[in-house]
Amino acid sequence: MSSEHFEHLATPCGCIAEHEASQEPDEAVAEVRRADAARMKRAWRCPDLKEFAPPDEDTTFPAEPLSQDPADVDDHRTALDAVKQVQTMTGVRCATCPWWYTARPWVIQAGRAAALLSDGAAVLVDDNATAPLIEAVHLIRASQGAERSYSDRKRKENG
Ligand SMILES: [Zn+2]
Repeated sequence: MSSEHFEHLATPCGCIAEHEASQEPDEAVAEVRRADAARMKRAWRCPDLKEFAPPDEDTTFPAEPLSQDPADVDDHRTALDAVKQVQTMTGVRCATCPWWYTARPWVIQAGRAAALLSDGAAVLVDDNATAPLIEAVHLIRASQGAERSYSDRKRKENG
């Protein structure tokens, strides 16, 4: 599928769209949405698809793209354009569906743990917290802090 046909389907990735399609009560509509979702997943090279899945569920690096078909490459570029500004701001290069990673159970767990902590709290409420979870919470909080200082600085610069 070429990018002009694909463009309106670029965001979000099919893994999100597929979930939304599962909530659709009208089966005919759901079927169309599932087909769109499958195309979007392919374009994003979403790890939700077996051929793009990392060998280990916990791996954060995307699988190497398998298809070099020009139409597939074009669709993939169009999909990634949707996150171009995020990449410019963060310096993080995205090569696949970013939403898939945010739906990993350990990311959800870390997000919940971070949300449970109030500012300045030093301990996690969960006694079973592992070192990686604590590290993830620190990273989330550091990221939130950096975002706050960036916003404050921008506000002061703009008066
Ligand atoms: Zn996805």
